[in-house]
Amino acid sequence: MKLQGKTAVVTGAASGIGKAIAELLASEGATVAIADLNEDAANTVAHAIRAKGGHAIGLAMDVADETAVERAIESVAERFGGIDILVSNAGIQIVNPVHEYSFADWKRMQAIHLDGAFLTTRAALKHMYRDKRGGTIIYMGSVHSHEASPLKCAYVTAKHGLLGLARVVAKEGGEHNVRSHVICPGFVRTPLVDKQIPEQARELGISEEEVIRRVMLGGTVDGVFTTVDDVAQTALFLCAYPSNALTGQSFVVSHGWYMQ
Ligand code: NAD
Repeated sequence: MKLQGKTAVVTGAASGIGKAIAELLASEGATVAIADLNEDAANTVAHAIRAKGGHAIGLAMDVADETAVERAIESVAERFGGIDILVSNAGIQIVNPVHEYSFADWKRMQAIHLDGAFLTTRAALKHMYRDKRGGTIIYMGSVHSHEASPLKCAYVTAKHGLLGLARVVAKEGGEHNVRSHVICPGFVRTPLVDKQIPEQARELGISEEEVIRRVMLGGTVDGVFTTVDDVAQTALFLCAYPSNALTGQSFVVSHGWYMQ
C-alpha cells in the first residue's frame, strides 16, 4: 500500500482516465474523492471502490465554477483532515478549424481545462500549505501540451498552458514540499476520443479507420493506443515518489509519439 493515509481529489473521475487513476490510487490505500460534473456516475465509481474494500466518495463538482470548487474541496479537507493529492483531470474536446471555432466553445474549453486547473489548485494548496503536510498536484496534459494538431486550437492552447501553471506551482510549492507534474498521454480510447473519431473523419474528409491509423496513431512507434492503466500507473508512480527530485516536469506517455 503506497498511499495509505493519503487523501486524493481526482477531477473528471467518473469516466476514462480519471476513473482509472481514482481506482488505482484507492487500491493503494488512498481515500479518493471522485469529483465530476456527473454526480451519479461519480457515486457509482465511488460505490464500486468501496465494494472492493477501498475508501471513496462521489462529489459533484463543476471545475469551472469557483464557488463549487471551493465548497467541494473544503468539504473533502474537513471530512478527511486535509488533502495530499490533487489530480486535475477533467476535460472535454471540441474540434473545429480556427476560422470556424466559435468564441463560446473557445471560452468553454479554456474554462474547463485552465480555469478548472487553477481553481482546484488554489483550493487544494490552501490545505497543503496550511497543514505543512506537502502534497502532489498532477495535471492531465496531453501530447498536445507539446505538439499541435489541426482542428484543436483551444485544446492545444489549454494543454500547453498547463505546463506553465505546473512550473509556477513547482517553484512556489517547493518550500512547502508541494510538487507538481503534468502527465501527457497520447491517444487513449475513452468516450472523449471515441466521440472525436467520426467528427475528425467528417472534418478531414477521410475514413474513421484512417483517423485512427494516421491521425491518432501515426506518430507512435508501434501503432498502439495508450491505455487508461498506462496513465494511471504513471500517476501512481508520481504520487508515491519519495522526494522533490521530480517536480515541474511533464511525462509523455504515448508509445513514442513526441519524444522530448
Ligand atoms: P472522458 O470523457 O472519459 O472523461 C472526462 C470526465 O470529465 C467525464 O467524467 C466528465 O463528466 C468530466 N467533466 C467534464 N467537464 C467537467 C467539468 N466542468 N467539471 C468536472 N468534471 C467534468 O475523457 P478522458 O479521455 O478520460 O479525459 C480525461 C483527461 O485526459 C482530459 O483532460 C483530457 O484532455 C485528457 N487526455 C485524454 C486523452 C485521450 O486520448 N483520451 C489524451 C490526452 C489527454
